[in-house]
Amino acid sequence: MTHALHYGTGVYEGLRSRKGKLFHGKEHYQRLLQSAELLDFKIPYSVLELENATQLLLNKTYYDFGYIRALAWCGSQSMFVSHRHSNVHTAVMVWERPMPYSAHQYRNGLNLHLSSWRRPDPRSAPVHSKASGLYMISAMAKRTSELEGFDDALLLDTKERIAEASSSNIFFVQNGELQTPFPHSFLKGLTRAFVIEQAKMKKISVTEKDIFLHDLPSMEAAFLTGTAVGIVPVASVDTPFGLYTFCPDSITRVIQELHQKAFGL
Ligand code: PMP
Repeated sequence: MTHALHYGTGVYEGLRSRKGKLFHGKEHYQRLLQSAELLDFKIPYSVLELENATQLLLNKTYYDFGYIRALAWCGSQSMFVSHRHSNVHTAVMVWERPMPYSAHQYRNGLNLHLSSWRRPDPRSAPVHSKASGLYMISAMAKRTSELEGFDDALLLDTKERIAEASSSNIFFVQNGELQTPFPHSFLKGLTRAFVIEQAKMKKISVTEKDIFLHDLPSMEAAFLTGTAVGIVPVASVDTPFGLYTFCPDSITRVIQELHQKAFGL
């Protein structure tokens, strides 16, 4: 009778640690609290308490490539659709989770296919919350891409704009500059923010803009960014309008190296 199982009223965060050191705990837990607020429930812990609980867990487990999942969800007090009377539960889990792709894929890139599922319109779903319920879309998109022999799915939004992959954001390289979709319908990733910050420090121009499938032929390189996947190039995107191919370039390599250095990879 857990409300979150029936009605999707849960939010989560995925964090990483390396040899017991937690990365970006503050930013992830700020986003967790905000995700819950967007769903109109309150997590009864502060950012600091969540960070401390996570560090305690890491001290006890000491995984090499640790992955931390923090989940907050509405419990079983009430089966009414409104979660007004639900208690909020919070859990923090940690397990060993190395980078998910092979060295070959991190060097040469992933093959994506265009999902038939769309990121929802911001008026149809709390798209800026890392809400468990929204991950039904990611799960179906990823599952179909696997069944069809691809590594991941690329999703558009309801206005035909390129949005993101199933659990990561996307960047493109054009004429020595970075471009990334404006986050109308998806989560502003923390890795995405890291890339934007690092690129600016390296004097690489970054533009957030609306990007459409017809822009793909003019893009030289592309890569995905996310806590679980890191920085992984895109080799191709298969769409009903044709196959678009990309080649990891020097900017992609610079960003990959900066990320690997910062996260001890
Ligand atoms: N989009 C989706 C749908 C995701 O699940 C994630 C992973 N949290 C991201 C983007 C990337 O976010 P981050 O860089 O904060 O992990």
